[in-house]
Amino acid sequence: MRASLAKEVNRILILVAASLLLCLLWRTIWPLIAGLGLYIIWSTRQLFALYTWLVREEHTDPPDAAGLWGEFYTRLEHLFRQERRAQDNLQGIIQRAQESVNALEDVVVMIDQHGHLEYWNHAAQKHLGLRPDKDLGQPLTNLIRHPRFTHYLAKGRFNEPLEIPAPVDDNRILQFRITEFGEGDQLILARDMTRLHHLEEMRKDFVANVSHELKTPLTVLKGYLETLLDTVPEEQTRLRRALHHMDTQSHRMEALVNDLLLLSRLENTKADNTGQTVAVHGMLHRMRENALALAREKDHEITLAVPEDARLVANPAELESAFGNLITNAVKYTPAQGHIHIEWRQDDQGGHLSVSDDGPGIDPQHIPRLTERFYRPDNSRVTQTGGTGLGLAIVKHVMLRHDGKLEIQSALGKGSTFTCHFPPARVAGKPAMTNP
Ligand code: ADP
Repeated sequence: MRASLAKEVNRILILVAASLLLCLLWRTIWPLIAGLGLYIIWSTRQLFALYTWLVREEHTDPPDAAGLWGEFYTRLEHLFRQERRAQDNLQGIIQRAQESVNALEDVVVMIDQHGHLEYWNHAAQKHLGLRPDKDLGQPLTNLIRHPRFTHYLAKGRFNEPLEIPAPVDDNRILQFRITEFGEGDQLILARDMTRLHHLEEMRKDFVANVSHELKTPLTVLKGYLETLLDTVPEEQTRLRRALHHMDTQSHRMEALVNDLLLLSRLENTKADNTGQTVAVHGMLHRMRENALALAREKDHEITLAVPEDARLVANPAELESAFGNLITNAVKYTPAQGHIHIEWRQDDQGGHLSVSDDGPGIDPQHIPRLTERFYRPDNSRVTQTGGTGLGLAIVKHVMLRHDGKLEIQSALGKGSTFTCHFPPARVAGKPAMTNP
């Protein structure tokens, strides 16, 4: 480039020198004017040629030019070739990305900050019924009209996925997950959960049916065991011991079947939102009395700090199961002379019922799994306590059906606190029922 520039400067100098020489010889300024004029015309022609070349779509075959202009064209053509190669590369990457997104079984949809459709893959056409050209730029909520989806999108809290029937086929269940990116844009992923849903339904039905079928044989067995215990003479100690053992185990089995049935009812039926007002104090007071009577030998101190006018809009039977399980657990796991505290708090977050004990506590690593069915941190305690392993799973489901949640705080050797959090809508401000 430097050499071409020097040549160009030389060319101008020679032109000026020749023109000046002619000016001196002919004693007139015209040769200089003519020389510079010719140079300007030549340069303008080159500029026009450059412009015409630049506005062409393809920047190949640059015009013939010598010197600095020629160098200029070669450099520009090289730059354009590089840019074309980068563009082709990028195009290839975008195409491959699009092909792979289209090959996905899962739905992928992108919407802008106003909720308008920007991009979607083939699976979105199949499961959501989006049409290739027509729906571009349409608000997504015009095309997926399920109220739960609209509410989910509007709420903007996407930590939990949403499951709804597919807009094009009610028999298919889609699970939506939404991720925000850029400036308010959203990436929506949806997966066909129909098969898993069916399997889950089958599992629930199976457990419910087995539990139901076990009820009658168990009742018969228990009946015979009771009769035998009444009739076998006291001296037949070995036989009586065996019968007692069978009787205890049949009671455990009955409790297990009942808990399984309750759990499947909580899972399979719609939450009862009839809005009965439950007097919490009366219910907990009764439970405290029962707990004291049932474990008299443990001599627990059970304190109750629940205002008399505490009221919840809830299903009383479900509430009784949940609170009952928490209190029974506290009694079961707290050693003799231990202290159990039942407390109700109310604030602008809602109502909070906590059951605390100064028992053995739970290793924090087990806490996230405690509400799973049959999950027990310490299996050796099972036979001693005689629990079903379903108590906390029941509490969790009852809380879900009441739009609340169960919180567990515990540390080994320091006791445990189980708190049921109810949303403000579930807390009835004024007393509507007298204590039983
Ligand atoms: P279980 O029938 O075994 O009591 P749950 O679902 O009610 O079943 O409880 C699950 C496990 O949580 C129990 O096995 C026990 O290890 C632990 N747990 C529950 N409540 C308490 C408590 N108050 N103190 C210590 N451990 C508890």
